Amino acid sequence: MSGVWVWIEHNGQEIKSISKEVLGAAGGIAAELGQPLTALVFGDDVAGPAAQAFDLGAAGVIGCADPSLSEVRIETYGPLLAREAAARQPAVIVAGASIPGRDLMGWTAAALETGLAADVVSLAVADGRVRAVRPVYAGKLQSDVVVTSDPQMFTLRNRAFAPAEATGQSGEVEWVEPAVAADEVSTEVLGFESSAGEVSLTDATIIVSGGRGVGGPEGYAPVRELAEVLGAAVGASRAAVDAGWIPYEHQVGQTGKTVSPELYIAAGISGAIQHQAGMRTAKVIVAINKDPDAPIFKLANYGIVDDLFKVLPSLTKEFRKRLEG
Ligand code: FAD
Repeated sequence: MSGVWVWIEHNGQEIKSISKEVLGAAGGIAAELGQPLTALVFGDDVAGPAAQAFDLGAAGVIGCADPSLSEVRIETYGPLLAREAAARQPAVIVAGASIPGRDLMGWTAAALETGLAADVVSLAVADGRVRAVRPVYAGKLQSDVVVTSDPQMFTLRNRAFAPAEATGQSGEVEWVEPAVAADEVSTEVLGFESSAGEVSLTDATIIVSGGRGVGGPEGYAPVRELAEVLGAAVGASRAAVDAGWIPYEHQVGQTGKTVSPELYIAAGISGAIQHQAGMRTAKVIVAINKDPDAPIFKLANYGIVDDLFKVLPSLTKEFRKRLEG
């Protein structure tokens, strides 16, 4: 068992930010273990991301380019990653804790009959094995985890690690064949619908979130206006999502997205433990709530006790003046 592997997410041209962070974290682990860092780049056209993986510190790249891999699907990606790992026996496999990363790593860990620590926020090496820290009980506790089987598998939380830096390095990709023939794949992706113009929650450096306090779907107008001025993503509590005021992809929390922005503005959100589980690692939290006893104020760096329908438009006006004027 030797080598630290990173499964790379990309858009066909560029490596996604979460995988740059995984390369940064895994590169540190590989250096400490004295083992090579290898990137696994699968997709339809992977020349760009493969070259970028070398530049971001990978000593080797295992590439697989095939139209059947144009979308990340377990049926094609899982057997491919599992086949390569079974044949080459890496010590560690790491990926981002994104939706595809969680799916692929969970499937592959089961196929390889090994352990996986998910949603890790810190990695270190002790006694020749990787030691991970992951939040548990909705972020109330941090647990120290070692994977005692091999390969040791981990998914890393978005924005918890510094991205790898460009090295100017290049190299030769080692090409492999897909594991499943295109006509054996049992699902077909028919198309995608994009949420035009909206900033993705998990990539956002600023999030403006609204909860039940916005009072209805129209209550998101001042939330969206502030988000637009700040170049921020729009988040929501589950109460607002369950009420049908805003789609599920905006939900932050235990059963929604985990986010770690530089700034999280929570308007009309009480701060239930399940909501906190998704946003408590934000660098700066600003809470706007009418109730001075709302639990969100215990977590917030800045609190405004007032009506969000007064506060949000004032903030929007002031930020617009400063940022655009
Ligand atoms: P409330 O708790 O009703 O809070 C609304 C707040 O708005 C209040 O504090 C009120 O003072 C304030 N307010 C009202 N009007 C105004 C105004 N005009 N101006 C300013 N403030 C105002 N929740 C999540 O968010 N994400 C999850 O992923 C999630 N997962 C869950 C999983 C499980 C298993 C369970 C059991 C629950 C989960 N929940 C989750 C639900 C969670 O427990 C809370 O019910 C939910 O977060 C409450 O949402 P809220 O803060 O918007 O609503």
